[in-house]
Amino acid sequence: MGKFTQDELNEINNTLNTPEECLQWAFDNLHPKLAKASSFGAEDAVIIDMMFKINSESRLFTLDTGRLPQETYNTMDEIRKRYNTKIEILFPEAKEVEEMVNAKGINLFYDSVENRELCCAIRKVHPMNKMLKTLDGWITGLRKDQNQNRSDAKMLEVDELHDQIVKVNPLINWTYEQTWEYVKKNNCPYNKLLDEGYPSIGCEPCTRPIKIGEDIRAGRWWWENNSDKECGLHVDHNK
Ligand code: SF4
Repeated sequence: MGKFTQDELNEINNTLNTPEECLQWAFDNLHPKLAKASSFGAEDAVIIDMMFKINSESRLFTLDTGRLPQETYNTMDEIRKRYNTKIEILFPEAKEVEEMVNAKGINLFYDSVENRELCCAIRKVHPMNKMLKTLDGWITGLRKDQNQNRSDAKMLEVDELHDQIVKVNPLINWTYEQTWEYVKKNNCPYNKLLDEGYPSIGCEPCTRPIKIGEDIRAGRWWWENNSDKECGLHVDHNK
């Protein structure tokens, strides 16, 4: 059971104006059982920079799915050195991956939405859930305008998918432009694929650059047409 109700968090949300205020509240109330989940996109670059300016003991974790692009590993290393921090790296269960790829093929995700969701569940959702069970709160890089599922998200939320811990979304009210302005101004380390037309970084076989005018998440699982394009970390597919 979580430490806060949504009514309590709503009252606190009414007092928070900036991402830094949101993070400060999270550190004061949830640290050290608080960690940032990162895939090293632009939003993550901003939050990581803000976090380490507020608290040098900030905790940062990432999911190594085994299918990440080299640029993402380079970014991890750059961040580790810049902020003098370790990054907690979570791997999927080897047995689960072995059984999946031996039964369905190494590139199973291209064959059906069901296969893609299975791969994301094994490589991302299961390790993530295991980590979240140890925390009272986790920090995301969500922004409202990234996806229609997120339009009513708030800075602090009870995470109904993960044992009612607190989901901390410092940039929820920021725009794409604000995010990049901060990254450039503060010279934050970020994934260099973002300079090559990748607006959203994920696993190498499932991410491609987008064309001018295309939706910002069109580069993820680009072969799917009628999917809500979420990996299961932020939405409940059983609803
Ligand atoms: S993004 Fe692709 S490779 Fe990565 S876990 Fe999901 S389906 Fe598997």
